[in-house]
Amino acid sequence: MTVPIDFSYETRPVRVVFRPGAVVSAPPDEAGRLGLRRLLVVCGGRGESTARTVADALGDACVGVDAEARMHVPVEVADRAVEVARAAGADGCVAVGGGSAIGLGKAIALRTRLPLIAVPSTYSGSEMTPVWGLTEHGVKRTGRDPVVQPRSVVYDPELTLSLPVPLTVTSGMNAVAHAVEALYAPDGSPLVALMAQEGVRAMTGALPSVAADPQDLDARARALYGAWLCGACLGSTTMGLHHKLCHVLGGTFGLPHAETHTVVLPYVLAHNAPAAPRAVAALSGALGAPDVPRTLWELAGRLGAPRSLAELGLKREDLRIAAAQVTGLPYANPRPVTADGVLDVLTAAYEGREPDSSGTPE
Ligand code: NAD
Repeated sequence: MTVPIDFSYETRPVRVVFRPGAVVSAPPDEAGRLGLRRLLVVCGGRGESTARTVADALGDACVGVDAEARMHVPVEVADRAVEVARAAGADGCVAVGGGSAIGLGKAIALRTRLPLIAVPSTYSGSEMTPVWGLTEHGVKRTGRDPVVQPRSVVYDPELTLSLPVPLTVTSGMNAVAHAVEALYAPDGSPLVALMAQEGVRAMTGALPSVAADPQDLDARARALYGAWLCGACLGSTTMGLHHKLCHVLGGTFGLPHAETHTVVLPYVLAHNAPAAPRAVAALSGALGAPDVPRTLWELAGRLGAPRSLAELGLKREDLRIAAAQVTGLPYANPRPVTADGVLDVLTAAYEGREPDSSGTPE
């Protein structure tokens, strides 16, 4: 590996606890370390029973459970949760669930500056980032603020045993997408590159085992470990075309988050590959395969994930609108973002055809 001679890397204070059963044992310890005595537990409707387990474990240190979390954090849901936190006199929050629950915890932290403990149950990686998102009138705004970064993250692989295989696969690919874009990010570093490669290796190695036996705790642990590393990559770098495209497809067209990442990733990577040879070499090493876009595309197909935007409900006439929205934004990407280039990527992803890894610019 060649070490670049010009980079910066910022370490943010976050404690990670990783062990089976931690969902019950760790939150009280983490609250104690942070000096928190009045915690509001937030979750989505489907995660309520786990959240209640966390609340019971916290005992008197829990002042309530708010089970209102929804995808993309609607601003009215965030407003209500802030009111609940204030009315209860909370001095901190525990978010239990996937990116949606953690997103609600971050929205509360953004408004109130209350410290957040995250107990993730998917591989979205949100728990490792200072990135928040809020949706108002159908438009999702995102931003970075260190105040929303969880201060403690509790990873419990047992919590992910219930994650259905289709969501396991797409959520895992969502994590891989963070590592992929971190490898060609303008603010990457050797440490991020190591985390990205190890994260991709762990996640792509674990997913087939989890799909074959969703109760395989060892494979679940490897996937969650990969999610941690990929999430840390997302938190440390600036994402490019892939994340912008998925943001627009989710925000404007309502496409599901993890599934959209899974479909789009091989095509953006095939598009960017000629301009990011070091990232491709690193990924090739992590995957043990020369053709990275095709390997990811085949893995998704083999594990039963959706492989076309048409399957996710996008209309062909939406492609141009999405391409225009993504092209109009200034952001870093290894290859210049042109309307024609993005439309080619979107059209291939819409049709779900085999990604063209020839490296030929369109
Ligand atoms: P999600 O949190 O919406 O969860 C998807 C579904 O899975 C929900 O119905 C949930 O109840 C269910 N679920 C979660 N964990 C489960 C488990 N262990 N067993 C059974 N069911 C379970 O989806 P997600 O993909 O984790 O998160 C997507 C959201 O997170 C999006 O809004 C996205 O924008 C955001 N996100 C933010 C960041 C960031 O850094 N801010 C990073 C990634 C994702």
